Amino acid sequence: MQDHSKMKFATKAIHAGLEPDSATGAIMTPIYQTSTYVQEGVGNHKGYEYSRTLNPTRHALEKNLAAIENGKFGACFASGLAAMDCIIKILNPGDEVISTNDLYGGSYRIFKTIFEKYGIKFHFVPMQDVKFIEEKINANTKLVWVETPTNPMMNIIDIEAVSKLTKPRNILLAVDNTFASPYLQTPLDLGADIVMHSVTKYLGGHSDVVMGALICNDETLAKEIYRIQNSSGAVCGPQDSFLVLRGIKTLHLRMERHCENGEKIAHFLVKHPKIDKVYWPGFPTHPNHDVAKKQMRGFGGMISFTLKGNKLEDAHKIVKNVQIFSLAESLGGVESLIGHPATMTHASIPKAEREKSGVVDSLIRLSVGVEAVEDLIADLEQALNS
Ligand SMILES: *Cc1c(COP(=O)(O)O)cnc(C)c1O
Repeated sequence: MQDHSKMKFATKAIHAGLEPDSATGAIMTPIYQTSTYVQEGVGNHKGYEYSRTLNPTRHALEKNLAAIENGKFGACFASGLAAMDCIIKILNPGDEVISTNDLYGGSYRIFKTIFEKYGIKFHFVPMQDVKFIEEKINANTKLVWVETPTNPMMNIIDIEAVSKLTKPRNILLAVDNTFASPYLQTPLDLGADIVMHSVTKYLGGHSDVVMGALICNDETLAKEIYRIQNSSGAVCGPQDSFLVLRGIKTLHLRMERHCENGEKIAHFLVKHPKIDKVYWPGFPTHPNHDVAKKQMRGFGGMISFTLKGNKLEDAHKIVKNVQIFSLAESLGGVESLIGHPATMTHASIPKAEREKSGVVDSLIRLSVGVEAVEDLIADLEQALNS
């Protein structure tokens, strides 16, 4: 097997972890649709015993994902939230977690409604200012949970600065890298211990799979992750693993276009008379622009904006009147999506809590796809003017 660690991103995305099929030479990793594997004698097998523990298609994907995140170990799960569930299960009752306050609604929900009752305590702070993390650290702090760029406010958190707080204290630093994708940001290089993905989004890239992943470098940590993956059993299937392997082969091409289109649309929006604020880390006026420039290789295709007057009805009208953008949750696919966080992705966060972090009634979030940008701009223009 070749050493992929020194290759450039595009080469790794297409080749890392993949070998021609040993039985037939098939260049594409087959979909090993099997639950079990025949053993020649007790304990004498080819590395696969049961597909919850390990499946060859999933295994190829896990190796590929580890390579493109510049990590050593990858583990795939039935969803992004199942991957998060695995991380929190590393902890014990009494442990404390410090998390971004502006984060994916489902992440907030699993922390507050599932794990809090098992005695794990969660603090939510605006991490774009690192000092708020330091204030909450105590002897029980075992994990810092970073999501950057944040959803939906597009705040940028300085991963390297956070790791300088966590490393000397032996606190785990996990980064939800879903919005950036490994093409734009590799948190392990910046001092993170674990990278988490909702593979459902940019990695899959075609809105046809729900999946999650964890990537890390430390072998002891990896063993614990694999133990929980196998013990809790929230694994993904071989068919989905195949689809994601296929998706990743074009991740670099898609991300280039997501970034290009995102930039053009951000500039269109910021000039529009009906729009109040545009949240996109590529603007030099974005409060964390310098951090974004330092830790990201592009600014991505996620943009949020608010309307002058901040009326819920106006926002609902726009998301209803777009024709190319589709009104839907999720993000990161080749097709452009539009969403209304306050009533969709963030409805599970109490209104007061949500408005504190900027998720107001007129906030609209775009996942800019890879269509022709002229058509996307014309569509937004007609919806805004309707
Ligand atoms: C979608 C998403 C998740 C949850 O992932 P699922 O695959 O939907 O379980 C977590 N974090 C972020 C940033 C997301 O966008």
